Amino acid sequence: MVDKELLVKTAKKIVSREDVKYVVGYKQGTYGFVISPSFAYTPEDVDNFIYNPLCKKNLTVYPILEEKLPLRREEEEDKRKIGIVVKGCDSRALVQIIQEKGLTREDLVIIGIPCKGVIDLKKIEKRFPNQTEAVNVVETDNAEYILNISGAVQHIPKEELLSEVCKSCEYPNPTIYDFLIGEKIEVGEVPEYSGLKNLDETPLEDRWAYWEKHFQNCIRCYACREACPLCYCKTCMADMLEPQWIRRSVNLSENTAWNIMRAFHLAGRCISCGECESVCPVNIPLMELNKKLEKDVKEMFKYNAGLDTKEKTLFGTFNPDDPEEFIM
Ligand code: SF4
Ligand code: SF4
Ligand code: SF4
Repeated sequence: MVDKELLVKTAKKIVSREDVKYVVGYKQGTYGFVISPSFAYTPEDVDNFIYNPLCKKNLTVYPILEEKLPLRREEEEDKRKIGIVVKGCDSRALVQIIQEKGLTREDLVIIGIPCKGVIDLKKIEKRFPNQTEAVNVVETDNAEYILNISGAVQHIPKEELLSEVCKSCEYPNPTIYDFLIGEKIEVGEVPEYSGLKNLDETPLEDRWAYWEKHFQNCIRCYACREACPLCYCKTCMADMLEPQWIRRSVNLSENTAWNIMRAFHLAGRCISCGECESVCPVNIPLMELNKKLEKDVKEMFKYNAGLDTKEKTLFGTFNPDDPEEFIM
């Protein structure tokens, strides 16, 4: 269990600094299993910070999206640092963004949490439907989650609620941080992402039928894009009218173009937090696409995203020996 006292003490220390604007962490939500982001501008604000297995949201979208908004007329840029709480995958997003020069290391004060995995909101909501009252969850040392739902204590095996991405997580420890809350986790052999079988072992025609079925359902809400810390282009290709790369009509052809384009734009950049899939209202298995591209990038270019701020990005390098059998 994460030491809440140490987390709060550390965040208070950070937010008290003159060169820090705010610290973003997690607080109890007001509805069911949803945990909310919490923006602390004063040490008192930090008192509501929590950390538990429901803290799935990747908070790194805030420094990259909120802080890049256009300034109002005569408004001066606030150059103070942002404090942020990150798990392993979230920290990789920060590394990747720094590599891409979206943020600098000096913009951030990072509180890292070695992560034992988080709960899949869709799984827990399916198990306990119509839960409106806010619920707290704790993880025991016996790989169990304990939930107190309206006075009834429930013990659920961790395996049943754990997010699928966490089952194949190679980097539970933050790859960048200023303060670490808790001991680093030892990482053993990690199983391959379960959904990869669908892409690797299914014949081509069945594969197409599978994706057609899913892309048909996409409503182009762009929740996947908004939740993704690496989807931070000032103007997304999907929104451009001149030239118009993708039409706004919701149909199989345009939906396919959108989803394939997004997956390829994230190739070698996606850090496998699974946020896009979590927020998709029509349950498109987006992580199967992301994980397939992650695997191909690893095999072809020996590249893992978000590990070292000093390393160049995958597309920031060219090696004459790079494999190119995919070029027609
Ligand atoms: S992917 Fe890894 S770091 Fe991210 S939430 Fe899951 S276990 Fe934690
Ligand atoms: S979140 Fe799902 S439905 Fe919405 S645009 Fe993304 S893939 Fe389509
Ligand atoms: S594409 Fe999905 S899994 Fe990858 S970084 Fe973005 S939100 Fe996370």
